[in-house]
Amino acid sequence: MCPKPIEPRRDDPAVNCPRHDRPMRRFMVAGIEVDRCGICGGIWLDKGELEALVESDKQTRAAARLLDRSDDADEASDHAPVCPRDGTPLVPMRTAVKPFVECDACTACGGVYLDAGELSAMTDTGFADWIRRLMPGRR
Ligand SMILES: [Zn+2]
Ligand SMILES: [Zn+2]
Repeated sequence: MCPKPIEPRRDDPAVNCPRHDRPMRRFMVAGIEVDRCGICGGIWLDKGELEALVESDKQTRAAARLLDRSDDADEASDHAPVCPRDGTPLVPMRTAVKPFVECDACTACGGVYLDAGELSAMTDTGFADWIRRLMPGRR
């Protein structure tokens, strides 16, 4: 399963990269919208999408990892990241889903920005199995 690029809609426009102010490309992975910056390889996920990806099935996580390529990322950073939805400066945060990977999160809307490589770290199978053991009864 390969992530499909989708066109932004008028009521759901493309978001800009938190670091580069350039429109990100949107991909649909099993119903979850993943926005990816072609410059830095960073990934933007709206509130709840990171959790949905981490808890999704193996194929979905594998498809999401296909989007997370750091090999064609030429610039790691431009300026301090701001939320592409509301302009709030993002703050470094450890999410509940992967407490030992730091990402940048918006305290206003709950979206998260992941640098190249971080989505893979978030969705690796070993971790998903680990979290399942931590939260019995939760899918
Ligand atoms: Zn970028
Ligand atoms: Zn926000």
